[in-house]
Amino acid sequence: MKLHSLFTSLQGEGRFQGYPTEFIRFFGCNLNCSYCDTKQTLSGDSFYIETPEAVAEKINKSDIFDVCITGGEPFCQAEELLKLLKLLRGKRISIETNGSFELEPLYRAFSAENSGSELYFSTDWKTPSSGNPLFDEKNIGFLKKSVSGWIKFVVGNKEDLDFIDEKLPLLDGIETYLSPVFENGRDWFSSVEKFVKSHKNIRLQLQLHKILGIE
Ligand code: SF4
Repeated sequence: MKLHSLFTSLQGEGRFQGYPTEFIRFFGCNLNCSYCDTKQTLSGDSFYIETPEAVAEKINKSDIFDVCITGGEPFCQAEELLKLLKLLRGKRISIETNGSFELEPLYRAFSAENSGSELYFSTDWKTPSSGNPLFDEKNIGFLKKSVSGWIKFVVGNKEDLDFIDEKLPLLDGIETYLSPVFENGRDWFSSVEKFVKSHKNIRLQLQLHKILGIE
């Protein structure tokens, strides 16, 4: 499979924010978001080829419980992704995905094996400011009936907030985060904070790794 990098850091977002985590960054993505902060994974030659077996061997040796599979978009290499998931042993795995692929088939295929790992999906719902607000709405039903994931909106402007306002009624019962575009700064964080305070069941989340200046 095509990888950009393996690294150890703190989880910057989502339900497991702050935990030490082994990151597996896949290369390649089907989108090209305006605010993408991993443009180096989208195209060019900043990748190397590794087998799922070799990656799993490295990660299984680590005593860190959390593993985050990110990108790029991991679902662009779905076959290799599933192989890797089945080989990881006793880990708490989160996949960071842009939400444009259906999650449930992968979850079912993973669950058919007893690898002793847990699997979660950190599912982005792309807002208008991303430039490509694609989302597979079948994922809403899956996330409602399972506790294996959450939804994150990256919020860049007022139009995004209006978009989220419209979508929130669909997400009742799903853990939902609003993540202001970090580069927009404090005033923008305050605007998103006000929005969160005036709505139910959503959480503001700032990207911890950017605050700390780590990968
Ligand atoms: S989906 Fe993620 S990795 Fe792909 S372009 Fe958008 S922000 Fe970048």
